Amino acid sequence: MPELPEVEVTARALAQRLDGRRVDAVRIYNRQLRWRIPASLARAVTGERIEHVSRRGKYLLWHLDSGVLISHLGMSGSWRVHEVQSAPARRPHDHVEFSCEGALARLNDPRRFGALLWHAHSRGDVLRHPLLANLGREPFDSGFDGPWLFAATRGRKSAIKPLLLAGKLVAGVGNIYATESLFEARIHPKTPAERISQHRYERLAQAIRRVLSRAIELGGSTLRDFAGADGVDGRYTRFAQAYGREALPCPRCATPIRRWVQGQRATYFCPRCQRL
Ligand SMILES: [Zn+2]
Repeated sequence: MPELPEVEVTARALAQRLDGRRVDAVRIYNRQLRWRIPASLARAVTGERIEHVSRRGKYLLWHLDSGVLISHLGMSGSWRVHEVQSAPARRPHDHVEFSCEGALARLNDPRRFGALLWHAHSRGDVLRHPLLANLGREPFDSGFDGPWLFAATRGRKSAIKPLLLAGKLVAGVGNIYATESLFEARIHPKTPAERISQHRYERLAQAIRRVLSRAIELGGSTLRDFAGADGVDGRYTRFAQAYGREALPCPRCATPIRRWVQGQRATYFCPRCQRL
């Protein structure tokens, strides 16, 4: 399942290839994604210039002249960009194709849990869109730091790991990255959020940024052929320090890593150096 690093890599790749180009034509082969692609979408975007492609949480935002295309990769989505002259034949599950002044951008999504929606500027700031308005802070924004995490978790008795996964504190940090960040910050995943000090939250904010940056760099090395649906995650687990390493020695203290299931998600931690 695409996580924040894949979406970031995809946003950068789309921006690199498409920023400044005009949308000449849109072909929709299958409208039935998680929500039906609106019938008005092709008309709304044809002829528009792509100012920039960015990311918010796990949403890709294509900023066009008169609105924003909102794209989510769901469980199995991916975008690919080809030059028209060298484009391969359309593959199964390529549901949408944008022609943009010599480039073809195709959305592939076998399981069709992704989304493609249009938000006209006339409807207000896209960041207030119901899908985006309640997302947590961006991990790379300056407002995401120890003092803010500390303040936001006073009175929160929930364990820190499911709270991170819920996405209301920080946007887009999935299971692997939450597990690894807590390991690096030496915080036990079961620690009640309100019991973590500001100092430890500062360590956690830095760990989250480090872990995500590393994953984005790994994905960035395959920018040319694009992030596949689980490319970055799959590669990241090879470098993981705790995730997927049950019974193997902790890289810090050699204690065997433990695994247990917390809220239906596998969690890995070092019982010695991750404190409650
Ligand atoms: Zn350890």
